Amino acid sequence: MKSKHWVVGNWKMNGSRQFVQQWLTEWQLGCDKLTASASQLEILVCPPAIYLPLFAEKIAAEQIAEANITQLRLAGQNVSAYAQGAYTGELSAAMLQDYQCSHVLIGHSERRQLFAETDEVVAQKVATAQTQGLRPILCVGETQAQREQQATESVVAAQLDAVLEKIGAEKLAQVIIAYEPIWAIGTGLSATPEQAQAVHASIRTWLRSEQITCTPLLYGGSVSPDNAAALFSQPDIDGVLVGGASLSAHSFLQICQTAV
Ligand code: PEP
Repeated sequence: MKSKHWVVGNWKMNGSRQFVQQWLTEWQLGCDKLTASASQLEILVCPPAIYLPLFAEKIAAEQIAEANITQLRLAGQNVSAYAQGAYTGELSAAMLQDYQCSHVLIGHSERRQLFAETDEVVAQKVATAQTQGLRPILCVGETQAQREQQATESVVAAQLDAVLEKIGAEKLAQVIIAYEPIWAIGTGLSATPEQAQAVHASIRTWLRSEQITCTPLLYGGSVSPDNAAALFSQPDIDGVLVGGASLSAHSFLQICQTAV
């Protein structure tokens, strides 16, 4: 029995001031239909960092009015491996928390592939984020070529090993893990629920071998209102990480509605 379902929206480098305001208005109009209570459903949005204040202000205002938008929480898309100092262009975990972020994506495949983030850098970011009070959502996943070579499980295990080595099992248990096959991200070609479940089951087995039993496991890769329910019905899929479909408040709400 899953204690909670997770829906995380990653906007990547999309949006504008006007877009954010419109998205929030649409969200607010639609979120009354969300029947799940906050204790069953954890909804997070990762907008570009520069728009976090717009979200934070809106959420704070709605909290005062006790409106349903309070169910929306914020996460960073990336964070520095360092706590503070001479790192031009970087954002620290403490800065993200200043704008109400409770979580942060770490190790997204776009960061790994396009910005050369190694397993070691990813592990250091997880360690720093945790030390500073942010809960990491650690992304792992294989390329198409690695899947064809039947290397999915070993690739994912190596990505997890690097973090385990850095922070140990007790702290890894506090991390949320998002399995995101790279070939499924932004391609419209989602893993089938069975493919995703098989990898999630292998991650669960890997975690159990380290006595970790409570880590939420999310699936990401072309999740949409059409395939979300089938993904959620899998025993080891606790939630979804949604890229493109999270840019529409309407689609994102539809996905949230299928979550419980
Ligand atoms: C992502 O950005 O992590 C992602 C899964 O994107 P998409 O849903 O567009 O495939």
